[in-house]
Amino acid sequence: MDFSLSTEEREVRDWVRTFVQRELVPREQDVLRRERAGEPGLTGEELTELRLKAKESGFWGVQTPEEYGGMGLSAVMTALLEAELGRTFVQFSFGGSADNILFHANEEQKQRYLLPTIAGERKSCFAITEPGAGSDAKAIRASARKDGSDWIINGEKTFITGGNEADFTMVFAITDQEKGADGGVTCFLVDRDMGWRSEYIDTMGEWGPAALVFEDVRVPESQVLGEVGQGFALAMQWIGRGRYLLPARAIGSCERLISMAIEHANTRETFGALIAERQAIQWMIADSGVELEALRWLVLHAAWQVDSGMDSRHAQSVAKLYGGTKANEIVDRVMQIHGGMGYTRELPIERWYRELRLLRIYEGTDEIQRRTIARNLLKGHVKVSGSLG
Ligand SMILES: Cc1cc2nc3c(=O)[nH]c(=O)nc-3n(C[C@H](O)[C@H](O)[C@H](O)COP(=O)(O)OP(=O)(O)OC[C@H]3O[C@@H](n4cnc5c(N)ncnc54)[C@H](O)[C@@H]3O)c2cc1C
Repeated sequence: MDFSLSTEEREVRDWVRTFVQRELVPREQDVLRRERAGEPGLTGEELTELRLKAKESGFWGVQTPEEYGGMGLSAVMTALLEAELGRTFVQFSFGGSADNILFHANEEQKQRYLLPTIAGERKSCFAITEPGAGSDAKAIRASARKDGSDWIINGEKTFITGGNEADFTMVFAITDQEKGADGGVTCFLVDRDMGWRSEYIDTMGEWGPAALVFEDVRVPESQVLGEVGQGFALAMQWIGRGRYLLPARAIGSCERLISMAIEHANTRETFGALIAERQAIQWMIADSGVELEALRWLVLHAAWQVDSGMDSRHAQSVAKLYGGTKANEIVDRVMQIHGGMGYTRELPIERWYRELRLLRIYEGTDEIQRRTIARNLLKGHVKVSGSLG
């Protein structure tokens, strides 16, 4: 078994590491100051400028197929790259990407939605969650009824990432009440100027998702993405597009955080000795180091399964659950090691503390991941001996 990175993987990782170090880390104090004033960490112009800078070195459309001008990187490569981006809390992602389900668009829709999204000219959002339906996504109630050749959409969506900035949404609505999620949900591409509105939701983090309100929003038949009645499968495809990438980012955050803890432990003295010499502190650092290493391999293993064309859903759930719980334990320990300073806003630990908390909630809560993992094991879909055969 060879765990080493290829030359290409090392080169790509090192390039991103240098980019983060040179372009993003120096902005951290500014970003913190702005976020605390209720402004976005990076302005739209700054983000575009950074993306174009990365593009000059070829970093554009990381997972976008090459025929669409992207890099078409493997899952393992993308996980390594996400881990590097996670080393800073400055919210940056490379340009040139579009939601995976937009690739199911017909030719005319591709011109209007997919290509402008890849080019960064349009912004999308994915809207399935409703006030009454989150984990239980099949319980959605937003509806679309036929009126002549148009569809009339009604309902409310909530916690939609990017919903305040998006100029179109991929919204899921019931088109056949009797069939429900099994053939009765359809995905619609709906421009904001077709009539939906968004309302900002204040959260403990910097994400600021939105509620989307649809009141008799009329859209022509040409706005259906994929087939009428096949929306739920599209929604599951969107959610399953890369669950391993969420904990991948947390790897980088934990690397930074543990490094901060080590530095502090090696300089802070109490009772005449460095706190690094206290077993209580050593154990927190040891546990964090072990868990970080385990997380790294769980993520890379899930990514490797994706690249191998295996059914990676179980491995992705394992990585997401472990990443969410352990990253939160690690940031908590790092705060503890810093004592009172860890709790202040002079250090960015509280910023990570709030951000990492979300990992246990969105795109499948801890409990939903456990439910999936338990089902797979109890029903024998997955062997306890793992995927080594
Ligand atoms: C910042 C943020 C961004 C988001 N972005 C998006 C987005 O872009 N698009 C989108 O559509 N949605 C988005 N979501 C919604 C997110 O996916 C849901 O919040 C999440 O799936 C949980 O659903 P819920 O909030 O309704 O909680 P609920 O489903 O009501 O769950 C409440 C609690 O009960 C537990 N629970 C539920 N069912 C079970 C069960 N069967 N067994 C055991 N425990 C259970 C849950 O784990 C949780 O602890 C976002 C959420 C947040 C907070």
